[in-house]
Amino acid sequence: MSSPTIKLNNGHEMPQVGFGLWKVDNANCADIVYNAIKVGYRLFDGACDYGNEKEAGEGVHRAIKDGLCTRSDLFIVSKLWNSFHDSERVAPICKKQLEDWGLEYFDLYVIHFPVSLKYVDPSVRYPPGWTDENDKVTPGKATLESTYHAMEDLVDQGLTRSIGVSNYGGALMLDLLRYARIRPATLQIEHHPYLVQQNLVDLCKAEGIAVTAYSSFGPQSFRDLDMELGKNTPLLFDHPTIKKVAEKHGKTPAQVLLRWATQRGLAVIPKSASQDRLKQNLDNTSFDLGEEEVREISGLDKKLRFNDPLNYGIPVPCFA
Ligand code: NAD
Repeated sequence: MSSPTIKLNNGHEMPQVGFGLWKVDNANCADIVYNAIKVGYRLFDGACDYGNEKEAGEGVHRAIKDGLCTRSDLFIVSKLWNSFHDSERVAPICKKQLEDWGLEYFDLYVIHFPVSLKYVDPSVRYPPGWTDENDKVTPGKATLESTYHAMEDLVDQGLTRSIGVSNYGGALMLDLLRYARIRPATLQIEHHPYLVQQNLVDLCKAEGIAVTAYSSFGPQSFRDLDMELGKNTPLLFDHPTIKKVAEKHGKTPAQVLLRWATQRGLAVIPKSASQDRLKQNLDNTSFDLGEEEVREISGLDKKLRFNDPLNYGIPVPCFA
């Protein structure tokens, strides 16, 4: 089983269905990555903040050693954390992350949030999270433009093939396009039927920027975190519209949620530790929804964002 690919604006091909590494625990991460490669996943979406890049790299290298794939078959994504936005911090932290993975280059390296925080040295705490060494959320001094130019330098240095951004809204994207020497290849955003952001998706389409959807199942991922909003929002898996469409196509609600995104041209990066779910998630592009079904699912929009720092008690209103 394999995923279709999306041609990025720099000519590189990115698998449309990948595997997300957030909340994948360290003890099982290498095995889970190995197993996902065995099932057919080729894109892995990692980040400094997920704290499991070494273990993910172990899984990758075991798979390469066993002949399941080669490095060039894989598309490895990582992200620049908020506390490394100062220009002079970007290349060193990217190199550390590459070392953790045991790789020479990333396929895509993304600014995780449009938020600059005070630098925390990796020897003090790694990953640093949202707070500094005094456990305070302290703003950094870097502008997004200066950080982006440092990301462009990573491409020049061969440390990553593509660069992108995440959690940017329309105004930040429009601004970025004015100063970018290397256009962002992708934008990664929270995207599910309760948070459709169609205007932002349309802007990216018009500008040739691929959109990757995260948290495609909406509240499910945030129940795992014990977040109030996640717990209080009915699961999309149980929504009558999603269930009706799933039954009609003989697919699972998860596959319908993923297909609603991939059919509209987005990439998706769900994760699961179960063999059956790994397969069904990867297999979401093997059927088509009707136009009316797509419209009906998009109509469930509530502009409901789960992955907002404010929902974790972090006083950074970056989506305000
Ligand atoms: P997810 O889409 O991976 O959903 C995870 C939840 O859905 C888990 O509870 C899992 O057990 C369950 N699940 C998976 N497949 C299922 C299936 N077929 N049927 C029923 N349940 C199923 O959610 P996520 O982790 O929030 O997002 C995916 C990835 O997106 C992350 O791993 C990460 O790589 C990325 N992400 C990025 C950001 C960002 O700020 N850029 C934020 C959040 C997530």
